[in-house]
Amino acid sequence: MYTLPPLPYAYDALEPYIDEATMRLHHLKHHQTYVDKLNAALEPYPELQNKKLEELLKNLETVPEAIRNAVRNHGGGHWNHSFFWQILAPASNQGSTLGDKGRTLTEEIKKQFKDSALACFGSGWTWLVKKSDGSLLVTNTPNQDTPISSGQVPILGLDLWEHAYYLKYQNRRAEYVDSFFKLLYPL
Ligand code: MN
Repeated sequence: MYTLPPLPYAYDALEPYIDEATMRLHHLKHHQTYVDKLNAALEPYPELQNKKLEELLKNLETVPEAIRNAVRNHGGGHWNHSFFWQILAPASNQGSTLGDKGRTLTEEIKKQFKDSALACFGSGWTWLVKKSDGSLLVTNTPNQDTPISSGQVPILGLDLWEHAYYLKYQNRRAEYVDSFFKLLYPL
């Protein structure tokens, strides 16, 4: 069964850009709920419990219809959040988390990414992905849909659900996006 992965840093490590209260709520409540609901969906399907989450999300059409939406939403939520925590870096280790991937983040891509994040309607995510032909793409997904279900390889992902930023930023999403860039690594 799936478990909540610990954050790779302290809850207050992303201050002042993402506040401790948001991180605690986001990780301990929201992410935990995706894990719990994914486990509940898979409980009657022991043959699926041995598969990797990536395998399920890349082949959603093979998941039994009765739990396909639950795997898409809660499995996607678990995968997306696990990825999100990994790409955020506290000031103390900026530059170390993304490695070579960081070189792809040009000013032009940052602009595309921010425009896409501001245009995201409703709850969803903005992504920088590598497509199967190797080219880069900035794209949005609704809800907890994950780019790996479309055969794309995520490089960056930003959670645009209000639970990710509303405590600190309220409706100021543009400031939240700017803060996200500051948490990645220096350009
Ligand atoms: Mn979230």
